[in-house]
Amino acid sequence: MRIGIGYDSHRLVEGGRLILGGVEIAHEKGLMGHSDADVLVHAICDAILGALGGGDIGRHFPDTDPAYKGISSIKLLQKVYAVAGERGFVVNNVDSTVILERPKLMGSMQDMAVNISKTLRISVDSVNVKAKTNEGMGLIGRDEGIAAFAVVTIQEKDNK
Ligand code: MG
Repeated sequence: MRIGIGYDSHRLVEGGRLILGGVEIAHEKGLMGHSDADVLVHAICDAILGALGGGDIGRHFPDTDPAYKGISSIKLLQKVYAVAGERGFVVNNVDSTVILERPKLMGSMQDMAVNISKTLRISVDSVNVKAKTNEGMGLIGRDEGIAAFAVVTIQEKDNK
């Protein structure tokens, strides 16, 4: 068993799409980034790569590479899943927290967990998505950005 942590943040801007955990959420602002800027999935990718000792998402999918422009981050997670598989590992479980002031994610978090669990081929019970506000403090409190943390455990395929 190995453990990894991931963190990411993206700037919120007027217009554009807000995609979290592969779910498009109706909101007047969207996240800015080279890919679809899915901050939650990026944190999970980094947590898996961290557990593998495999660097980070920027090394695997550089934001200077036009191949990743506008790409669905769920596709990046599929690629990270494949990297883990090549190294002989499967993901055991995912825990995550999205930190944002608005909108409320209560109605979307289960769909996010389903998307992530399907991509990683694990039970939806093994994926947890939580959301917190920043109590109005700082850049998140001012609605300027969204951040996410993720922790994953991975294990060697033979032990599964
Ligand atoms: Mg990112």
